[in-house]
Amino acid sequence: MAYVISDECIACGACAGECPVNAISEGDGKYVIDADTCIECGACAGVCPVGAPSAE
Ligand code: SF4
Ligand code: SF4
Repeated sequence: MAYVISDECIACGACAGECPVNAISEGDGKYVIDADTCIECGACAGVCPVGAPSAE
């Protein structure tokens, strides 16, 4: 289980700087979370303006 970023993502980049383990990177049109790195802290969901990250 890891957090995932939905297609609602507007690629603002806010979440990437909040992730304590640097699991978030810019993908093709949206940001993506590396499932093997994510520790499910929820920080990305807390800062996202559109609620794109959620626990799978
Ligand atoms: Fe990073 Fe935490 Fe979001 Fe996982 S839940 S991607 S560890 S900020
Ligand atoms: Fe996408 Fe939300 Fe991250 Fe911004 S904070 S890049 S909208 S997932």
